[in-house]
Amino acid sequence: MELHVLPPDVASRIAAGAVVERPASVVKELVENSLDARASKIDIECRRGGIDLICVADNGSGIPASQVELAFQRYATSKIGSIDDLVNVQSLGFRGEALPSIAAVADVEVSTRTAGEELGSYVYLHGGTVAQSEGRPRASGTTIAVRRLFRHFPARLKFLRSEGTENSHSALVVSQYALAFPLVSFSLLLEGRLALRSPGSGEARDVVAQLYGSELARAMVPLELSADSLVITGLVAPASLSRAGRGHQSTFVNHRWVHSPLLQRAIDEAYRGLLPEGRHAIAVLDIQLPADRVDVNVHPSKAQVKFADEQSMFRYVRAAVSAALGKTRIASEAQHLAAPGAAVGQTAWSVSEPEPLLSPFGTPSLAPTTGSASLPPLRILGQVLTTYIVAEGPDGMYVIDQHAAHERVVYERLLEQRGAHSPEVQGLLEPLTIELSPTEDAVLSGLADALATLGFALEPFGERTLLLRSIPASLADSDAAATLRGILQDLSQGVQGDTFERLAVSVACHAAVRGGQQLTPEEMRQLVRQLEECAQPRTCPHGRPTIVHFSVGQLEKLFGRRA
Ligand code: ADP
Ligand code: MG
Repeated sequence: MELHVLPPDVASRIAAGAVVERPASVVKELVENSLDARASKIDIECRRGGIDLICVADNGSGIPASQVELAFQRYATSKIGSIDDLVNVQSLGFRGEALPSIAAVADVEVSTRTAGEELGSYVYLHGGTVAQSEGRPRASGTTIAVRRLFRHFPARLKFLRSEGTENSHSALVVSQYALAFPLVSFSLLLEGRLALRSPGSGEARDVVAQLYGSELARAMVPLELSADSLVITGLVAPASLSRAGRGHQSTFVNHRWVHSPLLQRAIDEAYRGLLPEGRHAIAVLDIQLPADRVDVNVHPSKAQVKFADEQSMFRYVRAAVSAALGKTRIASEAQHLAAPGAAVGQTAWSVSEPEPLLSPFGTPSLAPTTGSASLPPLRILGQVLTTYIVAEGPDGMYVIDQHAAHERVVYERLLEQRGAHSPEVQGLLEPLTIELSPTEDAVLSGLADALATLGFALEPFGERTLLLRSIPASLADSDAAATLRGILQDLSQGVQGDTFERLAVSVACHAAVRGGQQLTPEEMRQLVRQLEECAQPRTCPHGRPTIVHFSVGQLEKLFGRRA
């Protein structure tokens, strides 16, 4: 093809792709605009995962009638005027790209009125151009309705996940902005159901209560540090209330929701030694600093920022979180003192990295890759590093990863449940009440059937609250609520392929014994026997090996007995 400049409609659709990746990106851009317009109330609605409708209504400043159509032109913004303004930008938006990008991939309706105008205006855009424009009454503020998103973009539509998953992404966006702007009252309707309402009380703790439940909200400790024209505020949970993923860590810079590995590391450092391996802190942090000390223009959806002085940022955040955690330790000790009989203080965990077991031996084989998958008979010798089972077989030595092996065993049992009439369950003596975040709730709604097939008996119990009456038998000894949350976290990115299988992988992972857990000789024997009975005993459901084999020949070579 000869070199040519793309026609404007093609170019604008390509540019739109960078801004509007999925329904949640539209929600994010519209909510940011409402916040920039200083709204104190923002109501969001999504239908069919946002494909049929995304509607954001605010009571902000409104757009003057003369400028509504202009707002849909590329690089039209009221927020900056020159490149110098960019250094000082206070608003969430500044590129003037969102509205034209959204209009390039969907039909858009705007109704808006500023406080100074008598009559509001209504504009309908179809295929990126204005199809209707007229005066219409409206209370001051702006409503933008986005319909038929990606209708003419089959490639984009194909990449979207289930409606439940798309909704969970939108719920996450709204949850985060609700946390960052506690003075603003947000509501979110998903498929006609109220998924979230924040009170706009100004207290982040009230928003946390809505998102994660009142119990967690009460347990969180405030944090505040100001130094060097930097103000860090937020809430952190005591280490005893950790989560399996980072889903409950929210970081904001000048109220902008950002993904920052630097801030994550600073939080991790403050919790170092307090959390078991694989667990993450629950934290909400807002960092306020002069706009010229952070570059917000380094990422297409502005989800990342660059700090002018990363090292001191890291140190301040770590110090702020550590100081708050110091308080939680004192608080929890005080609680123990107050409760007679509860003498156990908070135990600090020390997490030591296991030494790499295999490196000194060269490369052992991951057990024969050809031939039958079944295992040879094994004689168990013991456990090393409380993680691996060492055994002798007909051709040398075998090392089994206890977690991976158990995962395989549980996974295959769960798959058998699928054909069974009634799953093997463990009833709970007292049903557990579980409060879900809007994100978790949206993920759960897509998994309800598969969860039931596996043996989770869940009943609705008020808004975003569930009663858990039974769990799969293989989970019997676990903390059921934590496990269910962990599973929702694992599946929060949507499911590719078979939902039931993917869920079974996640359940197996949570049910399986962990590395670091001491096993009795009998437990080891049982585990190895169960592994021998598996159809695919050599890999865990994630595809990692369960067993590593050092043949007689390899051992002889390693010790120089044989060339
Ligand atoms: P940006 O936010 O980067 O300026 P957008 O394309 O998102 O670009 O919006 C373009 C302009 O439309 C904004 O600068 C603002 O003037 C106006 N606008 C958009 N949404 C709203 C709203 N909800 N309330 C008031 N003004 C709005
Ligand atoms: Mg914007």
